[in-house]
Amino acid sequence: MDDLCFSEYIPSKRIRITDEFWREKTALVRKEVIPYQYEALHDRIDGAEKSYCVENFIKASKIAEKIRRGEEVPVYPTDKWCYDENNSPAEAFHGWVFQDSDVYKWIEAVGFSLIVRPDAELEKKAKDLIRLICSAQLPDGYLDTLFIINDRSARFSNLKDWHELYCFGHLAEAAVSFYNATSDRALLDAACRFADLISDTFGPDKIKGYPGHEIAEMALVKLYDITKNEKYLQTAAFFIEERGKKPYYYDTVLGKETVYDNYHYNQAHRQPKFQYEAVGHAVRGVYLYSGMADIAKRCRDEELYDACLRLSDNIINKKMYITGGIGATVDGEAFSFDYDLPDDLAYSETCASIGLIFFLRRMLEISPDARLADAAERALYNTVLAGMALDGKSFFYVNPLEVLPEASEKDSRKRHIKAVRQKWFGCACCPPNLARLISSVSEYIFTENENTLFIHQYIGCSANTDNAEIDVASSYLTDGKLEIKIKPVRRFTLALRIPSWCKSYSFSGDCEIKDGYAYFNIEKGCCLKVSFELKTRLIKCSNKVRANTGRVAVTRGPFVYCLEETDNGKELQMLKISKTPGFLYENGFITADGFREKEDTSLYSEWTEGDYEKTRLKFIPYYRWANRGENEMSVYVRIE
Ligand SMILES: [Zn+2]
Repeated sequence: MDDLCFSEYIPSKRIRITDEFWREKTALVRKEVIPYQYEALHDRIDGAEKSYCVENFIKASKIAEKIRRGEEVPVYPTDKWCYDENNSPAEAFHGWVFQDSDVYKWIEAVGFSLIVRPDAELEKKAKDLIRLICSAQLPDGYLDTLFIINDRSARFSNLKDWHELYCFGHLAEAAVSFYNATSDRALLDAACRFADLISDTFGPDKIKGYPGHEIAEMALVKLYDITKNEKYLQTAAFFIEERGKKPYYYDTVLGKETVYDNYHYNQAHRQPKFQYEAVGHAVRGVYLYSGMADIAKRCRDEELYDACLRLSDNIINKKMYITGGIGATVDGEAFSFDYDLPDDLAYSETCASIGLIFFLRRMLEISPDARLADAAERALYNTVLAGMALDGKSFFYVNPLEVLPEASEKDSRKRHIKAVRQKWFGCACCPPNLARLISSVSEYIFTENENTLFIHQYIGCSANTDNAEIDVASSYLTDGKLEIKIKPVRRFTLALRIPSWCKSYSFSGDCEIKDGYAYFNIEKGCCLKVSFELKTRLIKCSNKVRANTGRVAVTRGPFVYCLEETDNGKELQMLKISKTPGFLYENGFITADGFREKEDTSLYSEWTEGDYEKTRLKFIPYYRWANRGENEMSVYVRIE
């Protein structure tokens, strides 16, 4: 791996976003999402499913206090995925097994948000919550409210299903984010105490287990990066090395043969270094791959890096929707087989695209490759943004590319597809994940090393990097233009990604093009003018994607567009776009020449050329869909 161009991402502390588009999104998270989630964690929202989050920490804190005083504590069963008032005593744990993670994701988002904009009141709320969390930690460092409240002796007994190491991962990520924002060590110290316990419990000469739902791997690396405690890096590497070894750990511990396919579900079917295809639960997959890339980089593990390359290739070239969505099937919320990308059955979870962005940024830190940054851009501007309503008040878990509201209501195979965003979910993984990604979006713009500064994503900002002070003025999303003011600290190379959607571009300075990046030698202060030709385009799928033969999608820059019933009437399948569409781009919308086929109610009849009337089709950016009430939507449209 010595010939690779390693670099580090630039933390959000050193970047100020000036871009109108993204300032609006981060403000929405700050003003709408974070306060709403805080109320949800406290179960103070009328009509919403209870989260029990804070309630569990209060119960766990009381138990921890009793344990410290040497008093007897009760035992309740730990045998369910979800506990509520009907199946559990009032004093026992309530909620999903991974409920604690919602609190941690909220704190992580708050940490990132405080960096963007300090807020004493919000910081105090987070610190109060952190005090409560720390008070629930057991003397040996253990911290998971389900097992603290219900049964201390059952901890780590079912790593496959019970999510303790998953909750730990989110705890560590929250701790790192909040420490970076405030220098307050309370949660970081708690996370390290739990990480110490985990490192003392799992390892080559200890318990040879690994997380059922991955994330602890990348979280331990984050703790290692801050503390430089090698133990955390070794434990993360151990989890990855041990995964998928035979005999299967879960079989030996759970005392039963688990069906082979279940191992694909959590990517434990073979050791990660030997994996070549993205399979199983998509969020778990990309969280694992992120951890693999982290370890490959820090341990210079070539075998693991090669696996990461194979997996990213497989996702980008065979398993990713045009919207950057991944996980095509609801069955296991999982990756399907190659080229199986159904539009109206898609799972395409918001969290999976967020995890994909985590993975791709880590791959870019090992070696710059514009295809990876392109895929991250695709996920960010389409599936991730579609996950949140324009007012920041409701969310999609699932992001289909075609919706018929009647089918969502009446067809049980499509029950996961919602035609309108939901306020909140009992199993609320996506909204807090969105909050943390959008609040930290600046961390996906740059990476740098001692001689090169890379710009992977074009978001207007001012940044203080090791190589230069840099000011990016961007109208990238509307006209493809950038003005980059550079005050170098030393001679260095600036590398700009050339977006894959751009066929023609110009720069105001001389450059060399390699792997999709333009490299400029920077010796003194300058202003680089960049223009990426932004054209509306018709895009087709590989003809191996059965769902979309004879159909096209409309794109402009990073945005994928879609048709909605509100603009185009019902029965979107009757529309066709012209081969010479005469695109007109106006105020963010695109119109095009097309046709509407006359309705034909005879179920079968002899084929004749259809009867069409001319119409003008109106497309809106995919991320803006479902903001005007329930209606039909389709990304793909038949072509004349
Ligand atoms: Zn989710």
